[in-house]
Amino acid sequence: MFSLQNIIRPHILTLTPYASARDEYTGKEGIFLDANENPFGAVITGNYNRYPDPYQAEIKEKLAVIKGVRPSQIFLGNGSDEAIDLLIRATCEPKEDNIITMPPTYGMYKVCADIQNTPVVQVSLTPDFQIQVDKVLAAVNVHTKLIWVCSPNNPSGNLAKRESVIQLLENFKTGLVIVDEAYIDFTEQESFTKLLDNYPNLVVLQTFSKAWGLAALRFGMAFASEDLIKILNKIKYPYNLNAVTQALILEALDNEEKKNNYVKEILKARANLINLLGDLSIVKHIYPTDSNQLLVKFDDAKAIFKYLIDRKIITRDRSNVQLCEGCIRISIGTDAENSTLVEALKGY
Ligand SMILES: *Cc1c(COP(=O)(O)O)cnc(C)c1O
Repeated sequence: MFSLQNIIRPHILTLTPYASARDEYTGKEGIFLDANENPFGAVITGNYNRYPDPYQAEIKEKLAVIKGVRPSQIFLGNGSDEAIDLLIRATCEPKEDNIITMPPTYGMYKVCADIQNTPVVQVSLTPDFQIQVDKVLAAVNVHTKLIWVCSPNNPSGNLAKRESVIQLLENFKTGLVIVDEAYIDFTEQESFTKLLDNYPNLVVLQTFSKAWGLAALRFGMAFASEDLIKILNKIKYPYNLNAVTQALILEALDNEEKKNNYVKEILKARANLINLLGDLSIVKHIYPTDSNQLLVKFDDAKAIFKYLIDRKIITRDRSNVQLCEGCIRISIGTDAENSTLVEALKGY
């Protein structure tokens, strides 16, 4: 019943991608006179004069082992934001096809859709930030190509019920269900990547920007069927991951233990912060979180946000966001940063 042929835009299915010099000869040894590079070297120290591997084969080999998927099920991008943009461009005819998002959620799904004139159908989460499965499925029409699930969600921080996501995967076969797991490292929940072989309509996004501490390198991942990954590879910029990022990510992949230790530290700091904030009378509610962000309801969020800015403590004002009225989103800092925040709030 599921057919990628009906989901990808027809001209993308037949598109001939750019063939780079490194596509036509993939060996590593030789005298390279094929890509108009500078043969002498770079103007700074380091081997930067050659174009990087457009398929990032080495990273995918290593990553596949860590993630329990096949290398052919991995797309790598300039942040997971690149995958978000490409998924919309691969599937949605502008002004014709639509996507479904569930606010309050990550802003890039709508921005990327807006850029290419793709209508966004919004079906809000419940007040405790869970998916309204029946309403989402009722909002699907013949032009719906993508349903965006963010779990753990940004800005609320909580996991979606696993069963709700499964229901979407079971009942939406005329498009793709994308599960954005940017914060999965902070949870014990099993990644949806484990279900890739069961659901050809499933795409999972992850990133090295949060738990791995590598936001500056711009490295994100999409996991999906081999056929869909081929489409994404066909439409990405040939050299979308630069050589510096590729080299440093290869190094990072040998340091997963360090990431896990950071996660433990962040979770400890989170528990401390929740305790300290719970004692403050200006705090009206702390929403349950499965990530490194805390959505906190205050008496007067806007004033408190400004008060904190004046003290050089930068949080995210979410008080204008649907279902987040009166709320500030706080990223978990170090214990020292968190207690500076709490001391400041005590003085409000
Ligand atoms: C931070 C974030 C991202 C961005 O990831 P990059 O890999 O840095 O582009 C994606 N999705 C969600 C939900 C996020 O919060």
